[in-house]
Amino acid sequence: MGEAVTDGVEPGGYAAGGDVAAGAAGGAWRNWAGNIVFAAGERRRPASPDALRALVAGAGRVRVLGSGHSFNRIAEPGADGVLLSLDALPAEVEVDSAARTVRVGGGVRYAELARRVHAHGLALPNMASLPHISVAGSVATGTHGSGVGNGSLASAVREVELVTADGSTVVIGRDDPRFGGAVTSLGALGVVTSLTLDLEPGYEVEQHLFTELPLEGLDFESVAGAAYSVSLFTDWGAPGFRQVWLKRRTDQPLAGFPWAAPATEALHPVPGMPAVNCTEQFGVPGPWHERLPHFRAEFTPSSGEELQSEYLLPRSTAVDMLYAIDGIRETVARVLQTCEVRTVAADEQWLSPAHGRDTVAVHFTWIADTEAVLPVVRAVEAALEPFSPRPHWGKVFETPAGVIRGRYPRMDDFAELARELDPAGKFSNAFVRDVLGT
Ligand SMILES: Cc1cc2nc3c(=O)[nH]c(=O)nc-3n(C[C@H](O)[C@H](O)[C@H](O)COP(=O)(O)OP(=O)(O)OC[C@H]3O[C@@H](n4cnc5c(N)ncnc54)[C@H](O)[C@@H]3O)c2cc1C
Repeated sequence: MGEAVTDGVEPGGYAAGGDVAAGAAGGAWRNWAGNIVFAAGERRRPASPDALRALVAGAGRVRVLGSGHSFNRIAEPGADGVLLSLDALPAEVEVDSAARTVRVGGGVRYAELARRVHAHGLALPNMASLPHISVAGSVATGTHGSGVGNGSLASAVREVELVTADGSTVVIGRDDPRFGGAVTSLGALGVVTSLTLDLEPGYEVEQHLFTELPLEGLDFESVAGAAYSVSLFTDWGAPGFRQVWLKRRTDQPLAGFPWAAPATEALHPVPGMPAVNCTEQFGVPGPWHERLPHFRAEFTPSSGEELQSEYLLPRSTAVDMLYAIDGIRETVARVLQTCEVRTVAADEQWLSPAHGRDTVAVHFTWIADTEAVLPVVRAVEAALEPFSPRPHWGKVFETPAGVIRGRYPRMDDFAELARELDPAGKFSNAFVRDVLGT
């Protein structure tokens, strides 16, 4: 397919331009964690927008792979499909200082975006724990940081540019009635070639870490609201949290934190791991992009010895939810590296796991052993069931697609938008068909 297109085709595997590893045997294409070998007919890396449009128009089935940091088959095109990378396209980052916006290319990662935005004295409202993930892939799955007042990363997006099935370009902005489906779209509408994001004036952040926050008597609202972004970590070896990370904007008041003791040494979220790759702690102020992620941009993880799951629930259920997990603490702890609890403000994206409800997100970094982890994932899902959890689209989950569908009131609107922009299902795959029930 697309024989006339001169691009970066690498038959049999690839190694350049990303974290996604080419396995030795048969040139297998894997995700960052290595737990998924993608079924794909071929991998293409178009080197120009024209080559991309021609490739898409001529292809039967296409899925874009961002930086490959998802832990499931969401990016998989299937055996007859094209796994498309945008990493050979120019990595556009165009800052408009007057309008306080940035237009960012479909393959660009947050680390590069943040560096360029900061150079203009501007800032993004929030970031995820790792800056190495692509912007388009992150907002496609509802990726988020933390903060009771901070929406998912998709909430900063004001416009999406897509190459759709016939190779033509469609632009959907906030005033378009289709916008609610266009950003957190699971990659199902077309190739996102650029996103325009809101910026704000640059700001500084300090990280203050605390240890040993008990579950008993937890005032979750006060703890979660104690700073601009708050993360709680535990290994579930005992009830309560081993670490609390407060990320305070220096232009906001410094609230007291009477519930736990200040940390006396630099910490990594996984107990026992060296903190050298973590962003600066002990209240040292620094630019937003060097404090909001937990991990430093200059530290490049080559592959991950881990699996991840995450569930997003109504924030009002946080304490009950934590006790539900505490009830299966020993089961969870056996395969857990660390568990992180964050908050996400409600947003309007139809498929955002924080859609329409202020959210508490409970995340699990598991050991890299799928067979041992899946039964525990099912146990967690059973414990969380009363709270109507929405699994993170990019992580490991076992919840049946039909159950998930019922938790998204605008799912039918999204399916209709997918039919409008992609009538033949060129950008669909087994994951998306399952979710949409098509
Ligand atoms: C170490 C680590 C830390 C993480 N931290 C967080 C965190 O703090 N918060 C959080 O919420 N999640 C987190 N995640 C999950 C991660 O943010 C998501 O999996 C996210 O989707 C990764 O982006 P990606 O570019 O790697 O996406 P991929 O896995 O490459 O793709 C995800 C989806 O996006 C689609 N896609 C990608 N680019 C495009 C494009 N240009 N056009 C159309 N579709 C596209 C793909 O087809 C696929 O459906 C973390 C993951 C890892 C490995």
